[in-house]
Amino acid sequence: MADAIYIHIPFCEQICHYCDFNKFYLKSQPVDEYVEDLITEMGIYADEHDEKEPVQSVYIGGGTPTSMSEKQLAKVIHDVRELFPLSESCEFTVEANPGSCDASMMKGLYNAGVNRLSIGVQTFDETLLSAINRDHEPGDAQKTVDMAREAGITNLSIDLMFGLPGQTMEQWKQTLKAALSLPITHISAYSLKIEPKTVFYQMQKKRQLRLPDEDLEADMFEELVANAKRTGFQHYEISNFAKPGFESRHNLVYWDNCEYYGFGAGAHGYLNGKRYANHGPLPKYMKAVSAGERPKREEHQVSSDAQKEEFMFMGLRKMAGVSLDDFEARYHTTMEETFPGVLEALKGDGLITVKDRQVSLTGDGQLLANHVFEKFLLGNEQ
Ligand code: SF4
Repeated sequence: MADAIYIHIPFCEQICHYCDFNKFYLKSQPVDEYVEDLITEMGIYADEHDEKEPVQSVYIGGGTPTSMSEKQLAKVIHDVRELFPLSESCEFTVEANPGSCDASMMKGLYNAGVNRLSIGVQTFDETLLSAINRDHEPGDAQKTVDMAREAGITNLSIDLMFGLPGQTMEQWKQTLKAALSLPITHISAYSLKIEPKTVFYQMQKKRQLRLPDEDLEADMFEELVANAKRTGFQHYEISNFAKPGFESRHNLVYWDNCEYYGFGAGAHGYLNGKRYANHGPLPKYMKAVSAGERPKREEHQVSSDAQKEEFMFMGLRKMAGVSLDDFEARYHTTMEETFPGVLEALKGDGLITVKDRQVSLTGDGQLLANHVFEKFLLGNEQ
């Protein structure tokens, strides 16, 4: 039984050049109808949810949830609370873009039970904000943080990006300085990845993108880790940092390879050993829900091998790593038997450590994480 819920709001007021999420220009979209369908979809699953299993985390992401009206967003929040039993200490997160939420909406979120805000800052550099096509100014992040705190939401996370086109180390240091001076509890920082079907992908094909090289990107990551640690953040996942006790409960569900509901167009979920993806295009999603169906585009049973692989990939993202004993308890076989020779080889290469029956990435392992994860693909040549 899943005890975490992800809700996707696929509307944005402006489309960022790097974004490959399922999202649509807000203008002229049937948002009220979408909200109705979302609630209907949640109702289908809620009927089967055990009342005695309280939900521990709800995450409303997107898209830009705060691009909807206060009333539309309030309805989604109200109805998920009506449909599912939420634990007293449920972490309830809403994603917001700087400048997309006014004081009234913020107060409304707090009054509705939202206790965590994830703010998509990305950078404090005006030139870079414009280069990636964000629709906010550097000063909007501080204003949004202040507004949230005034409304009573003090558990605040910000997203940052590095390795942006033309970004220098000096610009990154300035962004880190500005970010770390904010009264926040959590930071997620990812390097830019060029994904198909994005403006940046097209620009790269035409050789119009000047990206920092790998060495500079690695230095930026090290700068991030050093500065976050110096200012009291714990590095608890490759790309995530939290003040003690403020680790993202919702993301830990993913990294611990646990099950969760995914609602909304293009949302992914993991229930009863099956992973599923909803229809992304709004007409398809809405048509399926209107017909009383679960709006799934695809669903598959996760094989036993895939579960073990995912346990390793996802778990090793956490700095605490994965436990040899947890693996054995879950899969009734040992990690060493499942991945013969892999732990020893990676240890020998200085990419992982094994201590107190926990396997975790070293500093070099974090930089070469994808290379490490590949070694845990079953059926592949090691
Ligand atoms: S605001 Fe977020 S979801 Fe919307 S386009 Fe930008 S990155 Fe993508």
